[in-house]
Amino acid sequence: MRAMGERVVARAVDHLAGIAEAPIRGDMDVAALCRSLREPAPEQGTDLEPLLDHLFDDLVPRSFTTTGPGYLAFIPGGGVYPAALADFIADTANRYTGVWVGAPALVQLESNVLDWLRDWMQFPETTRGLLTTGGSMAMFNAIVCARERHLGTDIRPGTLYVSTQAHHCIVKAAKLAGIAADRVRSIPVDAEYRMRIDALAAAVAEDRAAGLRPFLVASSAGTTNTGAVDDLGAVADLAARESLWHHVDGAYGAFFHMVPELRPLLAGLPRADSLTLDPHKGMFLPYGTGALLVRDGRALHAVHSSTAGYLPENQDEFYDPAQYGPELSRGFPGLRVWMAVKLFGAAKYRAAVAEKRELAVWAAEQVSRIPGIVMDAWPQLSLFAFHLEGPGLESQDARNAAARALMERVTSRGKVMLTGAMVEGRYLGRVCILSFRSRRSIVETCVQHLAEESAAILAEYASRGPREGVLADPRTDGET
Ligand SMILES: *Cc1c(COP(=O)(O)O)cnc(C)c1O
Repeated sequence: MRAMGERVVARAVDHLAGIAEAPIRGDMDVAALCRSLREPAPEQGTDLEPLLDHLFDDLVPRSFTTTGPGYLAFIPGGGVYPAALADFIADTANRYTGVWVGAPALVQLESNVLDWLRDWMQFPETTRGLLTTGGSMAMFNAIVCARERHLGTDIRPGTLYVSTQAHHCIVKAAKLAGIAADRVRSIPVDAEYRMRIDALAAAVAEDRAAGLRPFLVASSAGTTNTGAVDDLGAVADLAARESLWHHVDGAYGAFFHMVPELRPLLAGLPRADSLTLDPHKGMFLPYGTGALLVRDGRALHAVHSSTAGYLPENQDEFYDPAQYGPELSRGFPGLRVWMAVKLFGAAKYRAAVAEKRELAVWAAEQVSRIPGIVMDAWPQLSLFAFHLEGPGLESQDARNAAARALMERVTSRGKVMLTGAMVEGRYLGRVCILSFRSRRSIVETCVQHLAEESAAILAEYASRGPREGVLADPRTDGET
């Protein structure tokens, strides 16, 4: 066991030591490899060493280098090393944390983690939470809570409201929760891509007049496309007036609320009925770490509480995961969050999150000065969006192609990965800074590569004259 563990740690650490120099997007022309990997379950086992070689040499590199400092695409993730060690401990100890009685002291650590999230988000004592595998599952559980509370068994008339910029997981979660797509209303946004409150009010009124039952509005604390933060206070006011459940999707943005000086950017967030957080984004933890907070913890309990003849009687002094979430047997996600916060401390987390915003503000300022770049969204948190204009770029198609080419060419240089997004028919370039490994020097490289590639693209369009066709062959579109 010791020798195997040492081999794995050595390979993992060597791998991490090389990620800053690794291409930011590996060779993704990989379909033939995928086909060649298909095989029946092996009858006989293999040695560890060739398996590690195969994984680290052949497979891991052929992906987006999401752990690299230059990963400024989509919403960057994390992967702090101590979290992997916590998973190792959780998996080797393999205690049963699905029900409180199986490992009360370990479950208490997860309960502490949920209390820490509650404190950072300034939710009240009545709050209960759940660690999930990601933001999508948090959203799903939130919709079920709202549905049970507001609709009971009469689901079909219930209507749900999101902005046109909301994350697509909401429509999917709604469907899983029994709310069909024809009951999901897409509310238009203002010039800063925030949900229009007047349009929301009108849509709610229209549905009520039609005999439907508006029950939930999901606002965004940072959209994936442009980083827009809805007016959370105004949505909360409307939700209170209309007796709607107000869910805030903070999968990207919630952790900026840890930093007291940044709280005004998310004003109104603590008033939500429920909140999605994604510790695998803003807390730099490995993928598979999401969270949900529900202000009236009884709503979360009402949906999930259950028992069986073979289980001991439920107690209610201590947090019990199976009473607040859909799973019974499960891993122990609480340990990786607990270990990271205990080892680093909350102050270091606040400083790191604040640094991401400072870097984004600085980068946006620099990028806005690049000739031909027009800003579409300044960083409300740590994400900004823009497009190119210039001679030859009069049509929307040409502008879309130029912005796509810009993202692709910067990425092809190997240091920085960028992805854009289609936003209301316009393709926008974007930069999102959220990895704990992204520091000032890589952001400088990003600005430099954007400047050089913009100049080259503008020159090509200018020399071709107007109405010329598409430039590059984009490999990564920004549909997130
Ligand atoms: C990432 C993200 C989600 C989805 O979360 P997953 O953890 O990928 O399931 C939802 N909303 C926003 C704003 C996000 O950034």
